[in-house]
Amino acid sequence: MKQIPLTYGPSSHAIHAGEPDNDPARAHVNPIYQSATFGFDDAGQGRRMFAGEEQGYIYSRWHNPTVAVIEEKLGALEGVDLRRADANGGAVAALAFSSGMAAISSILMTLLRPGDTVLTHGGLYGGTSELMQAPFQELGIERVLIDLGSPDAVEAAIGAADRPRVLYLESPANPALDLVDIAMVAQAAHAHGLKVVVDNTFATPILQQPLALGADFVVHSTTKYLNGHGTTVGGMVVGTDEGFIRHDLWERKKLLGGSPSPFDAWLINQGLKTLALRMERHCANALAVARWLDTQSQVARVHYPGLDHFRHHELAKRQMKGFGGMIAFELKGGVAAGTTVMNTVQLCSLAVSLGTVDTTIMHPASMS
Ligand code: PLP
Repeated sequence: MKQIPLTYGPSSHAIHAGEPDNDPARAHVNPIYQSATFGFDDAGQGRRMFAGEEQGYIYSRWHNPTVAVIEEKLGALEGVDLRRADANGGAVAALAFSSGMAAISSILMTLLRPGDTVLTHGGLYGGTSELMQAPFQELGIERVLIDLGSPDAVEAAIGAADRPRVLYLESPANPALDLVDIAMVAQAAHAHGLKVVVDNTFATPILQQPLALGADFVVHSTTKYLNGHGTTVGGMVVGTDEGFIRHDLWERKKLLGGSPSPFDAWLINQGLKTLALRMERHCANALAVARWLDTQSQVARVHYPGLDHFRHHELAKRQMKGFGGMIAFELKGGVAAGTTVMNTVQLCSLAVSLGTVDTTIMHPASMS
């Protein structure tokens, strides 16, 4: 698999990293290994591969060559800044899942045990928030919502929690685009031995690399910008503890079974190749739309990290390389006015999800 030197830019990583360089037919684009299982040369090889004495593909719920390409690529993309800052920073590893929620539930259920607490903030993506309530309670895992606005608040919340194990955050968060200072929170969490998991779906590694800011794990819904064309549902976990990812998390993935299909992985890889370009244009377009919305008399408030008056604008400038393609806005006419906008906009699709080449519009309170 191709390794791309750190001197190359994000597009080169997005296009080349992890691509196979030894295809037996010399295919220019990585092939789709749409096969559930893989053959052994003989019974002895089957035994050796099961025992881990010989490497190779066995079964696609475990590993698949087409899926391996996007895992290598995401590891490379999320690890660029970290490896640039610390040449000895170690390897970054990634595992692909069948959805963002499969990635999020698998990493959390690998890190957390009954009696543990996960600390997080309000305003997370609805599915993640729901997972951390009844399903986690049934497993004996408590979710506590905390203030991540200052080191003192984080320290106090960790001190007050019962067996705090994981600090989970989204930045920018879905849907109100609140930002969290990842480096500050990671430092406070690490002082108490917590693992920090960051959902980087809204930023993508092109705009923000949480591992370089101190996070232990990054999760993605690859359904969004990484695929970019709205053609698959998928997820990814990336982390700096290669052994944990390749052994502990992989064991859970293998048994919980949230493995992606090879075709979906191939579609995500096609999307990844234009990620850097798309993010550049998403940022420019969103800034123009946010500024325009800001001038409209019927608009009460625009939430966009690139606007000077946005509550976390200074943090966004420091922490992100661009402000992203998502905008939230409130209308003076409330839900009725919002309904009119959703029903009358041209070109935008009235649909949940995000990160496609076209614009989607929705009302999170009633649709997410
Ligand atoms: N994280 C964020 C920020 C999301 O917006 C979503 C879905 O909208 C998810 C995770 C869940 O991803 P998926 O729908 O791929 O399971």
